[in-house]
Amino acid sequence: MELSTDELRRYSRHLSLPEVGLAGQKKICSTSVLCIGAGGLGSPITMYLAAAGVGRIGIVDFDAVDLTNLQRQILHGTADVGRPKTDSAKETLHRINPHTNVVLHNVRLTSENALSLLQPYDFVVDGTDNFPTRYLTNDACVLLKKPNIYGSIFRFEGQASVFAPHLGGPCYRCLYPEPPPPGMVPSCAEGGVLGVLPGIIGLIQATEVLKLALGAGNSLLNRLLLFDALEMKFRELNLRRDPECPICGEHPTIKQLIDYEDFCGVKPQPDVMHSDEVTVHEMKKALTRPELGIKVIDVREPDEYQIAHVEGVALFPLSQLAQRFRELDPNQAYYIHCKMGGRSMRALEFLREQGFKNLKNVKGGILSWSDEIDPRVPKY
Ligand SMILES: [Zn+2]
Repeated sequence: MELSTDELRRYSRHLSLPEVGLAGQKKICSTSVLCIGAGGLGSPITMYLAAAGVGRIGIVDFDAVDLTNLQRQILHGTADVGRPKTDSAKETLHRINPHTNVVLHNVRLTSENALSLLQPYDFVVDGTDNFPTRYLTNDACVLLKKPNIYGSIFRFEGQASVFAPHLGGPCYRCLYPEPPPPGMVPSCAEGGVLGVLPGIIGLIQATEVLKLALGAGNSLLNRLLLFDALEMKFRELNLRRDPECPICGEHPTIKQLIDYEDFCGVKPQPDVMHSDEVTVHEMKKALTRPELGIKVIDVREPDEYQIAHVEGVALFPLSQLAQRFRELDPNQAYYIHCKMGGRSMRALEFLREQGFKNLKNVKGGILSWSDEIDPRVPKY
């Protein structure tokens, strides 16, 4: 492979590094990387890898850009809201470096397509935000013997590693054999995330890709790097491959891709109403017809209530419920809502344990209220 005059100039700051040089830059330019997700992590990963000259960058994402993405997903701009993320990603990367071949996979990564999608790439970077896709990415990489450059973020904290059993390191399953119970780990939408955090973790992942492509330095193989933005501290855990690991251990029981939604307990349920649930329309009826004798309570936190609330609804934050539930009447009928319906279900279960009989969870929470009843209530 030969580099053009334009490319030699573009990559001159790499060429001056003895650890990279012309030979190293050629390695980078002939490297291919598949990034799973064009979101918070995928943005800095793909933008910097394109700038560095990675020859081919594949992006798997089937989502459209949402206004709430822009606080951290810098591949996409304000004018991209509503467009497929892959489209705006391709434009951004082409603007940064037209020499990089950007390949779009505008599909959901599934057990059916994962092996054929990952196969043509040297490295896979995990930029997913959910457990089924994370386990699927891990297993496909182990089966294909591809290094899996892992990163994850939550609120103010992140972690990164390089999983590659074929290079002597562990895989994601060696570290986390079982997914957390569904609902235990809130998503970014529910739990929030500091906007700059994926920039830091994503660039650690991008750094590892470049080092692996160059064969330079010590990678995060066998190490888990933990970052705490509030304390501004990095910590490190030594990892070891688990000989009992079901996929990379000595007697693997997983020899092909499985059903990951089933494994993570998040099989999408048919959209039927749970007997403990009511719709926002029924919540509206309860609020406008006091003769029904139903009270509505909101179990979100006070700052969320300040951002958006429904008139006539009392606030009992879930975090204070154990101290304050005696202010409520166990014989009263209550409809309980939160942002999306998860925390209100936990509140319902807690109150039921305390002897409350007549409780319903408002399906979809205040976001559904904004969608279906009153769009003036801001979504956040
Ligand atoms: Zn393993």
